[in-house]
Amino acid sequence: MDHPQPLDTAAIRAQFPVLDQQVHGKPLIYFDSAASAQKPLAVIDAQSDYLKHSHANVHRGVHALSQRATDAFEQARRQVQSFLNASEPEEIVWTQGTTDGINLVAQTWGRQNLQAGDRVLISRMEHHANIVPWQMLATERGLHLDVAEFLPDGSLDWDSFQNELNRGPKLVAMTYVSNTLGTVNDAARIIQAAHAAGAVVLLDGAQAAPHKRVDVQALGCDFFVFSGHKTYGPTGIGALYGKRALLDSMPPWRGGGEMIAEVSLEQGTTFAAAPFKFEAGTPHISGAIGLGAALEWMEATGIEAIAAHEEALAERTMELLREIPGMRLIGTAPSKAGVVSFVVDGIHPYDLGSLLDAQGIAVRTGQHCTQPIMDALGIPGTVRASFAAYNTFEEVETFHRALKRAITMLS
Ligand code: PMP
Repeated sequence: MDHPQPLDTAAIRAQFPVLDQQVHGKPLIYFDSAASAQKPLAVIDAQSDYLKHSHANVHRGVHALSQRATDAFEQARRQVQSFLNASEPEEIVWTQGTTDGINLVAQTWGRQNLQAGDRVLISRMEHHANIVPWQMLATERGLHLDVAEFLPDGSLDWDSFQNELNRGPKLVAMTYVSNTLGTVNDAARIIQAAHAAGAVVLLDGAQAAPHKRVDVQALGCDFFVFSGHKTYGPTGIGALYGKRALLDSMPPWRGGGEMIAEVSLEQGTTFAAAPFKFEAGTPHISGAIGLGAALEWMEATGIEAIAAHEEALAERTMELLREIPGMRLIGTAPSKAGVVSFVVDGIHPYDLGSLLDAQGIAVRTGQHCTQPIMDALGIPGTVRASFAAYNTFEEVETFHRALKRAITMLS
């Protein structure tokens, strides 16, 4: 990778109005972007302009506003296509987010292709969104849900993964980047091995899309899902990438308007082609337009530069935290994104989170929807600081001081 230019964080922060405020009398330090990133003016304005000037329902009207809305909505689909380097816009399905995308694949491809006795392989570091839909399908269909382990540093245990792969799963559903451990999995290697074993691969890209350049064609994954709200875009919108042949072969999921070709009470219904057959009902039009603007903002800011900045912030944070007595960093894999999870001996993560909040610092505490990680490590949860393009090294230093004060108060 070429060395990206450092980010001008002052210029970036000026584009995020929400950051300019005090919380409990202290300047806000927002270290919870892995849960949801804040929105730049480019996104707020794109949504607002659309709502002020162009809103109408899409795909249905001959009138000018409807055509304008449809053009903007389909342009946003092409922006997602370009962001993921998918080969055609028809490979991009609008969803409500990562969770919705995984459920779509489970309920369509899964129901069509997985029968009693078939195996699905996930890992122990998955978000609940990439566990529960498979558990539900496994119960319904009599599937085996196999689990690849992770190593003490939070890396995927390749031997365990390979052993599970040898059992012959029909589907491998894995996270690209762990939201709790920060681990960046070697997605290309996982996909290659899974394909060699004859499995279809779904990548959970919720934490990858905001922090890495994603190229679905280079990766070769069959499905890729992500959420708008973690990539500086709106909530309630996300996308599923699926290889064209797979999407074409899959049955629809939700029925209703927009997803049909012909509806007859006598002859039954025929369905639209992908991606529309998966998009029943009026979509989140302003959300899609906002997501398109967010991805454009990321490209303009520099995805590689954002990633390098976040990794440097995480590295500095870990360096400072390592000096604190009783500190245990959770997730120290060699390849890590901008997520730092930790526990401190004898102190509940929630208490630390509350005292940090009192100092204006927003971190997340708890299980981060990854209870199996917590159970494996025998901890109730972690404190998690997660970074985005707008965070600064000064904030990391302030956080470090605030954390030390909080630990002293709670010890
Ligand atoms: N997978 C991962 C790795 C995540 O971090 C998250 C969100 N925390 C999800 C899935 C679910 O995303 P959403 O809630 O936006 O559907």
